[in-house]
Amino acid sequence: MDLNQFQTQFAAGEFIFREGDSGDCAYIIETGIVEVSVQKDDRKLVIATLAEGDLLGEMAIIDRLPRTGTAVALEDTRLIAIPHDYIHQKVDCSDPTVRFFLQIVLERYRDVHARLMHVFEGIAAPSDKEYQEIYATTTNVVRRLMTQYLDLQDRILSAVNTPDEEDHRGHDDETAWHAKQMLEAEQALSRALAADEFRLHYQPIVDLGTGRVVGCEALVRWQHPKKDLLLPAEFIAQAENTGLIVELGYWIATEACAFLRRLGDAVETPLFVSINLSGRQFEDAGLIPRLERIMSDAGVEPSRVKYEITETLLMATPDLANQYLHKIKATGAQLAIDDFGTGYSSFSYLHQFPFDTLKIDRTFVSTMIPNRKSRQIVKSLVHLSHDLNMNVIAEGVESGFEENLLLELGAEQAQGFHYSRPLDGDALIAFLQK
Ligand code: C2E
Ligand code: CA
Ligand code: CA
Repeated sequence: MDLNQFQTQFAAGEFIFREGDSGDCAYIIETGIVEVSVQKDDRKLVIATLAEGDLLGEMAIIDRLPRTGTAVALEDTRLIAIPHDYIHQKVDCSDPTVRFFLQIVLERYRDVHARLMHVFEGIAAPSDKEYQEIYATTTNVVRRLMTQYLDLQDRILSAVNTPDEEDHRGHDDETAWHAKQMLEAEQALSRALAADEFRLHYQPIVDLGTGRVVGCEALVRWQHPKKDLLLPAEFIAQAENTGLIVELGYWIATEACAFLRRLGDAVETPLFVSINLSGRQFEDAGLIPRLERIMSDAGVEPSRVKYEITETLLMATPDLANQYLHKIKATGAQLAIDDFGTGYSSFSYLHQFPFDTLKIDRTFVSTMIPNRKSRQIVKSLVHLSHDLNMNVIAEGVESGFEENLLLELGAEQAQGFHYSRPLDGDALIAFLQK
């Protein structure tokens, strides 16, 4: 964490925050003295005098609630602000066990805090109904979390190699069940990553005008030791939910860039490789430098790498997404918007993002022959793309009829079973050389 970025100064007598202000960060005191007080019937009650190294306003890190006290600098004071979002981003990316632990700690903290606040507010002790309610609910949560945790520990110890669905039936606590599922999924996936069980297949992308292969899309598979080759539908969502997609995503990028390098040696015309990025990967602050490093270590031309991003990701946080996209563009890589038209259709904002390519989703392409509406959508998407200086890749082309229609509608490139299914690296090179 770059501390300088979060440093702030307060002069003697200056308020850091007031009771009731909305709280979005905690502070660590670097130098100076801070007094924290609450107002009680026109009377100021000093609850703490804090100095170097002390933490204040930490409830804002836990829950975005109004400040419960007033903090004032008693002398010139330097603080480091720790934003709520910053911590939450880190927590969300962390290991599920760590998240689980934090959840327990936080619930205990809330519990203690709620009780303290009641004491301060002068509400009578356990006999008071409201107090008892709070006490009962919060401690129940703590108790439940503890039970979950011990249960979880049991399960880990008794080696959960084949999680039995039946086993979970009748378990009255869904949260605990989900937490365990997450942990098991995370363990299975990280074991698979360590055991090198993931594979990339590549689906050729063809230029509609010349019929030549111009690139390929990397699609991940899991060679499970006890099952067939698993498709992304069976594990990507879990990788995203557990946060493992971040690590897996780096493996995918590294593998895809190594393959691009190999392609460069195997075939004459330079091709590009498309890499799918999922939303969770953008929560990792190190994403862009790391991708840059992966491309340069592999010795590939960044302009030959295209990152595919789905529209759902953009819609969630358009401003943040836009910043990231510009940073990816600055590495020299290309950007494609994937599955376009399947989310909240979003023609109006598309122009603000620096995409090179728009990928028309398979649902439109596969229905455009029988369905006039789909055909009209494909036509509009092609026009829109060209107006915004993007080229088009049509996905899921399965017949020569679709190919001809796409060519007529002005799409530049296509991929689909009509050309080839996704192939492993050797098979793709053989396909290209034939
Ligand atoms: P996607 O990015 O839309 O990938 C295209 C999917 O359509 C692939 O499925 C591909 O096999 C399939 N496909 C291609 N041509 C045709 C066709 O002509 N007909 C039909 N019916 N299907 C076709 P796959 O490999 O199962 O991937 C599914 C999704 O999983 C991908 O959709 C993508 O969202 C995700 N995914 C795949 N690989 C990765 C990855 O490396 N990282 C991330 N984050 N997501 C990935
Ligand atoms: Ca894709
Ligand atoms: Ca797609």
